[in-house]
Amino acid sequence: MQLSGFRGGNGIVRLIGHRGARGVMPENAMEGFRFATGIGVVALEFDVVLTRDRIPVITHNHHLSRAATRTADGNWIKGEEPKVADLTLAQVQELEVGGLDGGSVYGKRFVDQAFMNKVRVPRLADLLDLARRPENSGLHLLLELKSDPEMKDDASERSDVVAIVVAEIRARGLEPRTVLHSFDWDMLDECRAQAPEMPTSYLSKLPENTDDPGEDSSKSVGPDFAAMTVSLPRAVRDAGGQIWCPHVHDVTSALVAEAHSLGLLVCSWTVNEAADIEAMIDAGVDGIVSDYPGRVQRCLLNRGLNWIGSAG
Ligand code: MG
Repeated sequence: MQLSGFRGGNGIVRLIGHRGARGVMPENAMEGFRFATGIGVVALEFDVVLTRDRIPVITHNHHLSRAATRTADGNWIKGEEPKVADLTLAQVQELEVGGLDGGSVYGKRFVDQAFMNKVRVPRLADLLDLARRPENSGLHLLLELKSDPEMKDDASERSDVVAIVVAEIRARGLEPRTVLHSFDWDMLDECRAQAPEMPTSYLSKLPENTDDPGEDSSKSVGPDFAAMTVSLPRAVRDAGGQIWCPHVHDVTSALVAEAHSLGLLVCSWTVNEAADIEAMIDAGVDGIVSDYPGRVQRCLLNRGLNWIGSAG
């Protein structure tokens, strides 16, 4: 059931809004999620971490970025970047996260992003409530659990994080539309143990790809891909995953075909340039995770394809 939002084929390539629509709207914010659902994405990708009072909130980095965070008086935060896990929800929500500092390295990556005031880090519950609205009944969720590198080897912390997040999803009956997603493959083991009713999506990024400036690196929490003795699709299948979510530059049509032969779906990230979007369509991926959902729509429509509909 959950996988229907991520399955391509028969003229369909699924469109998944990355952190909402980061290229044009503040990332991981309700304003961006509403924009993305309003233009008809079939799924939202977003990132979940816990506050000090153990409330799941939606933000990417473990530390709130100086490039994207202002105090209530509108000034960019200074000094050490605050760690979400050290702040209560109330403290996190005192901060403004609706715009980028154009002088920062991160801000220069997203020059088209709207600048908004009064945007706060949302709770996971806020997005789940949006997904429950009748007009969003077809929306799927690709919920990324962010693993804190400092806690990577703490199994009880991993178990707690999964339990708290899964409880929120179940409390709203959204398990049938949610896929649990992570770079931390141990976290996904825990997800399948605690919530076998929800499929798991395995993120990968090969070591030769550089980190994205201004963002927490995935390399400290993911498996050692260089040491793997089987193909990535095989490793995901063996681990128990249903979706393989490779970095855009790690995708080949041969790997997509292998993944499909193993019964996996393939959704690649973060696919922003038109040439890359075309390459993903050519490679046969099921879904495209993009900061610029409008660009994906244009490429699909130009080729007589669509992102909505029954893939059979
Ligand atoms: Mg993510």
